[in-house]
Amino acid sequence: MSLQAPARHTVHVPLGDRAYDIIIAPDAIDSAGERLASLFPGARYGIVTDENVARAQLPRLLAALDGAGLSHTEIILPAGEATKSWAHLQTTVDAILAARLERNDILIALGGGVIGDLAGFAAAITRRGMDFVQIPTSLLAQVDSSVGGKTGINSQYGKNLVGAFHQPRLVLADQQALDTLPPRQFAAGYAEVVKYGLIDDEEFFFWLEANFSDIESGGPARAEAIAKACVAKARVVVEDEKETGRRALLNLGHTFGHALEKATGYSDRLLHGEGVAVGMVLAHRFSARLGLAPSQDSGRIEAHLKTAGLPTILADIPGDLPPTDVLMDAIAQDKKVSRGALTFILTRGIGKAFIEKNVNAADVTQFLEDMR
Ligand code: NAD
Repeated sequence: MSLQAPARHTVHVPLGDRAYDIIIAPDAIDSAGERLASLFPGARYGIVTDENVARAQLPRLLAALDGAGLSHTEIILPAGEATKSWAHLQTTVDAILAARLERNDILIALGGGVIGDLAGFAAAITRRGMDFVQIPTSLLAQVDSSVGGKTGINSQYGKNLVGAFHQPRLVLADQQALDTLPPRQFAAGYAEVVKYGLIDDEEFFFWLEANFSDIESGGPARAEAIAKACVAKARVVVEDEKETGRRALLNLGHTFGHALEKATGYSDRLLHGEGVAVGMVLAHRFSARLGLAPSQDSGRIEAHLKTAGLPTILADIPGDLPPTDVLMDAIAQDKKVSRGALTFILTRGIGKAFIEKNVNAADVTQFLEDMR
């Protein structure tokens, strides 16, 4: 990571001939025109975005492209998780073809993780693979989904079940874009930032605790937090691009989190990052119960997530949750179960997560029962 000036960082993702840069800067969108023109001479651009982001951020991007004389077409989709569907994938691919974008033209994903995943997948399959650029506008997308090349849509059988690995050519993470993001969405993305500290970097977690107010208010620590999170994600992706081993650590808190998301119908009751926040606390508490981690660590994590406005216990989730056996069914579906044993990301304390393939399902059931 090279530090150019406060609030400006470049993170390189060294994936051989698919290597790319993540530019983190408050004017990354405004300066996109020159950057794109020099990287992709002669290309035309298809911008995929959602209605909220089109209102809040698209004018900045259009001004940047127009300023550099770049030709573009816009594909504006409804906002929300339901957009990651076959129907909207088809709309997107058809719009790309109707605009006669060719293989050497560029698709731009301007939006949160929903748009990044959908547009990235459309780029992966249209004309047997087009290049694409991520311009993530939610905190979650800036620190997580825009990095690593996982793209896809949901199916009636579950989330993210149809997709492809397709790395972007460039990521432009613009902190100013986060100014229009609803605070609840900001907090949800922040849970993923905290996750990187909890996985293997306790210093980062302590730094986040100390710098949270600057991060929240958009000071220089915000860009630094985003950059550190991108470095952490990029490192894991480079080590394990196709998620056969270490990349699974990124799922810390996600097994419990996914079960809770499912139990709340993937609705506004619990955003993905909020599920991850509760899930990370549960993973630490469960590890403490197994005698693996100090219990004061769970309290410290809980306190910080609370400060960030995140739910941390089951009772924080509005409405009734289904019985424990239904939550356990969701956990079993999310994870491979072999003879009553589950794979979980557990921890020996802050910054010491590990993959445990032999977690007793009955212990998890009892633990969840006691947490209610
Ligand atoms: P999202 O894309 O739905 O964005 C959240 C909300 O914020 C939406 O209403 C959106 O319109 C709005 N928004 C985004 N940026 C804005 C801005 N700057 N100003 C105003 N409004 C803005 O959700 P998300 O949390 O960004 O992403 C969640 C998705 O990411 C899920 O589908 C999840 O599966 C996926 N994901 C993918 C990966 C990956 O590796 N590919 C990793 C994690 C999550």
